[in-house]
Amino acid sequence: MKALTYQGSKDVRVETVPDPILVESDDIIVRVTATAICGSDLHIYRGKIPGMEDGDILGHEFMGIVEEAGPDVTKVKAGDRVVIPFVIACGRCFHCLLDEFAACETTNTGPGAAMNRKSMKPPAALFGYSALYGGVPGGQAELVRVPKANVGPLPVPDALSDDQVLFLSDILPTGYQAVVNAGIKPGSSVAIFGAGPVGYMSAACARMLGAETIYMIDHNPYRLEFARQAYGVLPINFDDEDDPAQTIVDATGGRGVDASIEAVGFEAKGSATETVLTTLKLEGSSGKALRQCIAATRRGGTVSVPGVYTGFIHGFLFGDAFDKGLTFKMGQTHVQGLMPELLEAIGEGKLSPEVIISHRMPLADAAKGYQIFNDREDECRKVVLTP
Ligand code: NAD
Ligand code: ZN
Ligand code: ZN
Repeated sequence: MKALTYQGSKDVRVETVPDPILVESDDIIVRVTATAICGSDLHIYRGKIPGMEDGDILGHEFMGIVEEAGPDVTKVKAGDRVVIPFVIACGRCFHCLLDEFAACETTNTGPGAAMNRKSMKPPAALFGYSALYGGVPGGQAELVRVPKANVGPLPVPDALSDDQVLFLSDILPTGYQAVVNAGIKPGSSVAIFGAGPVGYMSAACARMLGAETIYMIDHNPYRLEFARQAYGVLPINFDDEDDPAQTIVDATGGRGVDASIEAVGFEAKGSATETVLTTLKLEGSSGKALRQCIAATRRGGTVSVPGVYTGFIHGFLFGDAFDKGLTFKMGQTHVQGLMPELLEAIGEGKLSPEVIISHRMPLADAAKGYQIFNDREDECRKVVLTP
């Protein structure tokens, strides 16, 4: 089959690789009909995720038709149309029983599991996300092996198109978990840092939960303008404004917003620390957007962080966080538990995640898709690949 493989920093290629086969009795093989490129894939593409080997198959946002099912699979059968959550969870361990699927204790068993914090069990395995997360081949491919098929795959009705349901695999639940973690309710004010797909899904879900005022911060004019039109956000371009957090505090009577959402991650642009870290070639994170979140949030408010962080971050204003009595919530998304209610919301027309798609291309052109999404060329918001 054809699959998109990692070959080093900024080098991904579609290659012919062996077809996947059933390994465990509760595995399925899915014939992929649509797969998306995620901001998390960009961390890999930029060579920032340890444990990627040349030839590893990328992709964790995908859906398709069940081609073959192991003998112990009862949830789905051959021919079913399914969306696959990016987190692989057993459904039975301590954390799965708490609906904390991203912390599943049993699925991340590959050799790379030992690269995680040694004193603790590793987090759940993820599709296409390095040995660190289980070394499981991803879904930017014609076929993919899906473990734990009685837990993850979500059957979807024929009435909904691939475009409408594909983002249930990751970014829609991620945006939803971000706003739930942020405590958004009718009348809330929220500042969302990052006008990428995760920021967009956060804005859509914040609107669904009744948020009144949504600020969105980025330096990409076309991405901000899209969010203004689609979600009615108040855009702030951090290239034009010295200090977006101060702009938000001033606009809220000197108080700050109820919650901030950091939808950027550890490679946030534009901080002095980032330059220092790059110069010293230190592993670490700039955390610019995170510091802005702390500064923009009111006393007693919440900072919710779906953006991915690795290593340490410099200049964390812990004193400010303490002084304000802030709450922090963060982490990988517990996708499995959130998919059913979000599928219902899509069916009822309350959410239309597909509107953010800007580029569709065949899997064969995936390398071009990565380059456009990474370089934010051609007004790129989200790329969907069709094998
Ligand atoms: P993206 O790279 O397309 O978008 C990030 C946006 O942030 C860009 O538009 C960029 O211009 C903007 N940005 C950069 N620096 C900024 C700053 N200082 N302030 C404000 N905006 C800034 O990525 P995406 O697909 O939207 O993903 C966003 C983050 O969410 C990534 O870190 C990704 O890994 C993470 N993510 C986490 C989960 C999870 O389970 N928690 C799931 C999916 C994605
Ligand atoms: Zn993703
Ligand atoms: Zn589990």
